[in-house]
Amino acid sequence: MKAWRLHAYGDLRFEDAPLPEVRPRWVLVKVKVVQVAVVDRGVIEGVPNPHQPRIRKMWAEGKPVQLGHEFCGEVVETGPNVSTLEVGDRVSYPGGHFRCGACPMCKSGNESECLSPMNFGLEVPGAFAEYVSVPEWGLVRMPDGPTDNEVAAFQPLGVCVGNVRNANIQFGDTVAILGQGAMGLGILQVAKLAGAGLLIALARRRESLDLSRDFGADATVNVTEADPVTEVRRLTSGRGVDVVFETAGGRKEDGLAGFETVRQAVQMVRAGGKVFQVANLEGPLELDPVHMRSRSIKYMWPDPVGPEGLKYAAFLVASKRVKVGPQITQVLHGLEKLPEAMEIVANKAKYHAFNPPQIVV
Ligand SMILES: [Zn+2]
Repeated sequence: MKAWRLHAYGDLRFEDAPLPEVRPRWVLVKVKVVQVAVVDRGVIEGVPNPHQPRIRKMWAEGKPVQLGHEFCGEVVETGPNVSTLEVGDRVSYPGGHFRCGACPMCKSGNESECLSPMNFGLEVPGAFAEYVSVPEWGLVRMPDGPTDNEVAAFQPLGVCVGNVRNANIQFGDTVAILGQGAMGLGILQVAKLAGAGLLIALARRRESLDLSRDFGADATVNVTEADPVTEVRRLTSGRGVDVVFETAGGRKEDGLAGFETVRQAVQMVRAGGKVFQVANLEGPLELDPVHMRSRSIKYMWPDPVGPEGLKYAAFLVASKRVKVGPQITQVLHGLEKLPEAMEIVANKAKYHAFNPPQIVV
């Protein structure tokens, strides 16, 4: 089969790879649609991330790294003793690691703290390939209704579900969302379902904010035209919002906002409110502890993701409560188009993209 494999930072090759082995309790999946996440780009370029020691270990053992974790596939073969999936099932991957099932943490029911985790896109070769082999417990069967393209966008939506659940929004809470990419638009819709009151969407691009209004934002702020902190305070009678979701931060080389939106988030939250850090940040973060403590600001990180978020994300789209279709504007055909997709993901504004670009394999 054909696959994109990383042999060293910056050395990504489209090459022939052996069809993956189907072990007991694993299934062989034909990749139908895969999305290119902004984190994939960072991994390829060698941006610091917690998986780097494992990546270096794989290279030291002569194993290339095969990325790709946001995908829709179809089970084409089941290994011995598979009990939860059948040939023909449409599946997706929830994010997070595959538990080993044998270590003390797994055996005591603390699988999110597994001591020998395998990650999809690392130890388990990922979906920038024609086929992947995955443990059956690492996949979720998808409902009928959503398209394959929509299913490929469910992994980040599942993370949005988990983030909103972690933030524990109370009925009527005022909510601001910094950034209206795939994560921001997903959190907007899920927060509304979770009972959010006034919902304020903030972004740099007018076309994103048009979608935000379609998806249920009560107020939108174009941060290139108005000061985001001033606007949020004005919209909340000076108090600030109960909850801020920060989805815009990250590497400026990837078209993201650096730490600027984090600083704005802690200024626009009310005293005692929560700032929920959705975006992946990189490097040392400076926050003013006097401001944070004197105003009792809760700065929160997401819990590890599990399959429940993905299952619920699929249900929300299948039952037409949440939309992902309108966000998917860039669909390329053929796995060989990965470099083109990488260019789009780093320059979403230039290409008028919201969702990560997709590749139909
Ligand atoms: Zn384990």
